[in-house]
Amino acid sequence: MLNLVLFGAPGSGKGTQSAKLIDQYGLYHISTGEVLRDHIARKTPLGITAEKYISKGHLIPDELIIDLLEEVIDNEAKDAKGIVFDGFPRTIPQAEALKGILDKRGTKLHAVVGLEVPEEELIERMINRGKQTGRADDNLETIKNRLEVYHNQTHPLKEFYLKEGQYLPINGSGNVEDIFDAIAEGIESATGEVRRSRK
Ligand code: AMP
Repeated sequence: MLNLVLFGAPGSGKGTQSAKLIDQYGLYHISTGEVLRDHIARKTPLGITAEKYISKGHLIPDELIIDLLEEVIDNEAKDAKGIVFDGFPRTIPQAEALKGILDKRGTKLHAVVGLEVPEEELIERMINRGKQTGRADDNLETIKNRLEVYHNQTHPLKEFYLKEGQYLPINGSGNVEDIFDAIAEGIESATGEVRRSRK
């Protein structure tokens, strides 16, 4: 198996690079943000709760998101050859939970790809995405809250994964293809896995 976390601030390109990772490595993609947006669209009880947090730019409580992740792994990704976790973990308790979840299923996390992008660029990208897709939380006020939450609650995970020896820093500015090449090289040197187009 090859299990990867795609880590970075909101707007750092996690969704874009996830799509390339699943294509090139044949992995299953879990974006907790997308799963939550789907619940909101279907007006499920979880969706109704989640919307209150998402609209403010706050994180969903750890217990809710951890249960949701386990459910997705067991229902949809159980036969996958590996998983790209996009937008999870976002807190230290979530990172610890992920370790336990993978351990219980006889596997582990192989690398954490950290997309590093300057803040002005993040804001510009999210404003543009909001205009193009109509995504409700891509407005300036919510973006500012999301970045603050990222700095306070999620960024400390970089240190956590550096200590675990799993963090691969990637310059996330510039051309999408060049960024993906850097990710693929990082994965190859960390895990020995080779992408399809290089096989
Ligand atoms: P994303 O699509 O990853 O940017 O996530 C959009 C929003 O969903 C976030 O701003 C959070 O409100 C919520 N969310 C997504 N993933 C998580 C998570 N792992 N923990 C808590 N909240 C999350």
